[in-house]
Amino acid sequence: MSVFDVLVGQEHVVEVLERAVADPRSMTHAWLFTGPPGSGRSVAARAFAAALQCENGGCGECRDCRQTMGGTHPDVTYVSTDKVIIDIKEVRQLVTTAARSASQGRWRIVVIEDADRMVERTSNVLLKAIEEPAERTVWLLCAPSLDDVMVTIRSRCRPVSLRIPPAQAVADLLVSRDGVEPEAALAAALAAQSHIGIAKRLATNPEAAERRRAIMGVPSSIRGVADAVLVAADLVERASEEASAVGTERDAVEKANLMRTLGIEDGEKIPPQMRGQIRQLEEDQKRRATRVQRDALDRIMVDLLSFYRDVSTRQLGSDVDLVNSDFAQDIERIAAESTPEQTVRRIEAIQQARRRLDANVAPLLTVEAMAVGLRPQG
Ligand SMILES: [Zn+2]
Repeated sequence: MSVFDVLVGQEHVVEVLERAVADPRSMTHAWLFTGPPGSGRSVAARAFAAALQCENGGCGECRDCRQTMGGTHPDVTYVSTDKVIIDIKEVRQLVTTAARSASQGRWRIVVIEDADRMVERTSNVLLKAIEEPAERTVWLLCAPSLDDVMVTIRSRCRPVSLRIPPAQAVADLLVSRDGVEPEAALAAALAAQSHIGIAKRLATNPEAAERRRAIMGVPSSIRGVADAVLVAADLVERASEEASAVGTERDAVEKANLMRTLGIEDGEKIPPQMRGQIRQLEEDQKRRATRVQRDALDRIMVDLLSFYRDVSTRQLGSDVDLVNSDFAQDIERIAAESTPEQTVRRIEAIQQARRRLDANVAPLLTVEAMAVGLRPQG
């Protein structure tokens, strides 16, 4: 067993990391893990951290391995942020932590899961620390792509690039790790387009599977403009429900923690000089909720895109496997009822909605316009 077993379809990466662990001459103080969402860049960083701490190069069983993988190792600090940006205070704190020597492990390690979410001023603080690393300190940064990180930072990091794993490899993982039936595992891996986390949710969480059924039902349910408007409202509603399910409880806990830190008792009035900090937190939380909702909508659109791409492959008679093989009947029917040109227009309507969402156009307007673009044109 090895901590690297969780890295599915990333043999090229595992080889580099194992060599760095085994041979101090291949070791570097700063690494940058990049890869598309779901490729497992933060999982890779975590496994690497464990292998560095472990006496046996990442056995997966010793205390160092278990603590590092579980996020409780005293010498491994994780920064994972749900906020839009990582703030400068947090990074200053990290730099101080990183300068301390390890207490239990062989290295002092800092993992930053969203290194792309820093403004330049914050990146500069980090840059200084990476330029002059302490003897046994390692920085592991993660970002979607090299371009997402300031050039001064990435030029000092060793790049590790993860790829989208083959669906079959993801399915094998679901079978061996989560006990999913092989057939269901492959369907989930294909439907999730090899995003490991989403594939696992689809295969093991009935709500996620239900949500997907609802989205895959969208193409069949839009017959005219009136349906389109209804469907759009429903999709936006789903996305905000998803956002508030994650958010509400966490928001309350964060606020309670901040109040405690500020020394304000339950139910006590907030002193004027502290209101700014509370307001700042509430603004951050609001921004985060907006982002979670947009991310949820974007995932819905990616699912719809995959549906119409499947329709397109059927219309063009191409022999590739369907992404949504479990909805083959619907796909065949829509392929027969529409023309390839129509499918192209529908795909373009979804692409445009994604761009608008990215440009902060109001979600409901965006999704309505998209849904109207999906209706059959007679
Ligand atoms: Zn170990």
